Amino acid sequence: MKILVIGRGGREHSLVQKFAESPQVSKVFAAPGNAGMEEEAECVPISETEGGQLITFAKENKVDVTFVGPENPLLAGVVDQFKEAGLLVFGPTKAAALIEGSKHFAKQIMKKYNIPTADYEAFTDAEEAKAYIQEKGAPIVVKADGLAAGKGVVVAETVDQAVEAVNEMLLDGRFGDASREIVVEEFLQGEEFSLMAFVNGEHVYPMVTAKDHKRAFEGDQGPNTGGMGAFAPAQDLPDGAYDFAVDNILQQAASALVEEDRSFTGILYAGLIQTPQGPKVIEFNARFGDPETQVVLPLLENDLVQVILDVLDQKDPQLTWKNQACAGVVVASAGYPGSYQKGIPLPAWSKEKGLFVVHAGTKKVEKSYVSDGGRVLLFGKTAGDLAAALSDVNDALRVFDETDDFFYRKDIGQSAIVSSNQ
Ligand code: ATP
Repeated sequence: MKILVIGRGGREHSLVQKFAESPQVSKVFAAPGNAGMEEEAECVPISETEGGQLITFAKENKVDVTFVGPENPLLAGVVDQFKEAGLLVFGPTKAAALIEGSKHFAKQIMKKYNIPTADYEAFTDAEEAKAYIQEKGAPIVVKADGLAAGKGVVVAETVDQAVEAVNEMLLDGRFGDASREIVVEEFLQGEEFSLMAFVNGEHVYPMVTAKDHKRAFEGDQGPNTGGMGAFAPAQDLPDGAYDFAVDNILQQAASALVEEDRSFTGILYAGLIQTPQGPKVIEFNARFGDPETQVVLPLLENDLVQVILDVLDQKDPQLTWKNQACAGVVVASAGYPGSYQKGIPLPAWSKEKGLFVVHAGTKKVEKSYVSDGGRVLLFGKTAGDLAAALSDVNDALRVFDETDDFFYRKDIGQSAIVSSNQ
């Protein structure tokens, strides 16, 4: 069987690795892919949103099923195009992916179908937004409605900061069309975790939970990033939180989208926060999370291709999960998430002790890798417990301690280890 993975990041490299493990798979293509994927896949120089060219490639190369990794092609309607061309594809249509593409739409769905989330109002008028902020006070959260590559959310600690965010988004058009409308919502406090599921219409097959680390620096300091490391499953969730989130959040959202005539097929991701009233939704995504995927897929016992075929076929894929922990730590270019240099040679690393390495932003120059992005690599490991997984990952990462060109967080997962020892 031949598989095409659309995307170029760490998430897609992890997907490529998992697909390549399948005894049913004879060939994996990645479009456009990255240098690390060349070990397991053939990379094809077609970018993610070039639906027409991707379809021609899939037809000419007799691809059996295509998996769309990132949100941009989903919201550009690439899945719709593949379906119209009669090709098998795994991912939501543009209409269903709106659950990620518009925060206002996602909020309306949550309100209408009683899915727990922060209270909110949506605005296109800056004065009305500011009046609402004055009335509610700080802390308060201001979000651009559309896709803004993880940068469209301001958690404002003061009313002034919130007002500034409103000005930037609605008056200065900081995110273009994506910030023509904003959502202003209640600030929620608690531990964040992610829960993803394979979904086809009403059918929801949940994965294990995961925990991302969004801030750039140790101690959850510094700016928000795409994610500096993750582990799965999330530790110390209260009893019942997982089942509650599956039934009242993921299942409820999938059923709501069917009801709204936007039936969802693909990976539904809920970014959640554990509040004193139980889990509440911070955001929905219409695809696998990055870097959560890199630590969730290694725990999946099933053949990923078979899972996808079963889900598309309305059959229960009978997911089984390793009773282990998986941790992954991101190596980033100095300066990320701000500006950074590319093309810096990477030190040699070793993959001993069952370590895995996922590439996000690398390029091959002659026979060695150089950096080619903000997030460069993720080092990960599956082990009996989180502490054991992280200890080997952190040992391997020491090769990056000798250079100022890259950085990584040494505290990924540490608070979970500390609290489990208490
Ligand atoms: P992503 O990069 O995950 O796509 P995004 O731009 O869609 O991010 P959100 O996930 O909605 O943004 O928010 C980013 C971060 O801001 C969250 O992980 C959370 O830490 C914080 N945040 C968002 N909404 C709230 C809220 N209502 N209360 C407290 N913190 C929040």
